[in-house]
Amino acid sequence: MAEEEFEEYLFKIVVIGDSAVGKSNLLSRFARDEFDHNSKATIGVEFQTQVVEVDGKEIKAQVWDTAGQERFRAVTSAYYRGAVGALIVYDISRKTTFESIKRWLDELNTHCDTTVARMLVGNKCDLEDIRDVSVEEGKSLAEEDGLFFIETSALNSTNVNAAFEIVIREIYNNVS
Ligand code: GDP
Ligand code: MG
Repeated sequence: MAEEEFEEYLFKIVVIGDSAVGKSNLLSRFARDEFDHNSKATIGVEFQTQVVEVDGKEIKAQVWDTAGQERFRAVTSAYYRGAVGALIVYDISRKTTFESIKRWLDELNTHCDTTVARMLVGNKCDLEDIRDVSVEEGKSLAEEDGLFFIETSALNSTNVNAAFEIVIREIYNNVS
């Protein structure tokens, strides 16, 4: 009997962005289909792993959460080490979080090389009534910097899986 060959794919993906944009909830929605209204519960969790299938291959996405480090403006280099994908998140209802994206991109570029698959994520798209960043603004920033772009809601699940899956597929295409 022929021996089957198994390839293993483990992709480290980091989630970055200002405090309270919804990073931890995007992760818990993706990994466990859960949402925390008071969000304290996920503090201390380093990463969660979720298996995704791409082209019939099982891929383990190891998604890292800052666990609140970003409040001190000091996400450590260990956080970025080995990352092959990144979600850079802002809150569509708070312009200041969008204005911080450049700084997060600089930080990402300092720690990781340019081959990292990068997705700009405008989270909380359920808050249309108090939108402060237009879809066009998000799109054009993403185009300028060569990022993918998507708007999500961790609250009602809009595009959360898609955000991660597009990044995972891009990483897969780069390595296979
Ligand atoms: P983090 O600091 O970036 O990890 O943000 P959290 O995931 O802790 O979320 C911060 C706050 O925003 C919490 O009160 C969440 O309940 C809320 N939140 C997160 N995602 C969404 C979303 O998609 N829509 C809305 N309306 N609120 C959200
Ligand atoms: Mg958090």
